[in-house]
Amino acid sequence: MNDTPWRFYPISNPRAFEEVVDQITFAIRSGAFRPGQRLPLVEELSETMGVSRPTIGEAIRALSQAGVLVSQRGASGGVTVVSDNIPDTMIMRQPSGWREAALSELIEARRPIEMKLALLAGERATEADFAAMRYAIEQLSADPKADRLRRINYDHLFHYAMGRAAQSELLAYYQHQVLEQLYFSLREVVDDEKHVQGIVDLHEETLTALESRSPSRIEAAMDRHLRWMEDKVADSRRKPRKNAGSGDRRRALGPTSARARIGARRRGVPRLDAN
Ligand SMILES: [Zn+2]
Repeated sequence: MNDTPWRFYPISNPRAFEEVVDQITFAIRSGAFRPGQRLPLVEELSETMGVSRPTIGEAIRALSQAGVLVSQRGASGGVTVVSDNIPDTMIMRQPSGWREAALSELIEARRPIEMKLALLAGERATEADFAAMRYAIEQLSADPKADRLRRINYDHLFHYAMGRAAQSELLAYYQHQVLEQLYFSLREVVDDEKHVQGIVDLHEETLTALESRSPSRIEAAMDRHLRWMEDKVADSRRKPRKNAGSGDRRRALGPTSARARIGARRRGVPRLDAN
């Protein structure tokens, strides 16, 4: 018999603004809108997302202030993507409105989702998909001294490109939920500065396997790719880091909603989870 108590989680509502930001950043990270490309018109976004134009406008303003979008008025205007390096202030910790998952849950869920996506990508990826993955690797290796969040962003961008290549929208959405939450957990656990080249190699090996379209090669490459992070997380559990406790402090304050973080960013107030 299973005695684990069922856990209900708080519902944050309304989340329309956050969800608009999330949908736009998901589309950018998936490569559907690359830097230089325009988003659909505000009217169109408002209609398809079923939210008001001011809500879309609020999300666009927040993303513009974060350096992701630029909006111009006039006939030749519109909203253009200018960066695919999404700052952490624009990333939702709980994209689904679900409770904040533990790192061990994220790592556990990631493997079957990504393994399946990789195998599907091996069957379905186009040359453009491979180019998008190559671009993410180039960005990842471009500046080994770049800050960690930028590296996590481009590491994840590779995985989003693979998710899109799989042409399996629901699985790619689950992957997005896991990766968004991992983004926050990983920076507290993974000290990757010494491993930049190793991480780049893992991505190159994965891309080569995907291009071979051989399921056994893809499985082997993905196994190594995912295991790297799984081992790091297992290690970090064995020897607690010096700054352990910051997670507990945040938990004591309660989860910071994306709205609070985005709002804090706009007001120039340091975020609760800044470290
Ligand atoms: Zn990776």
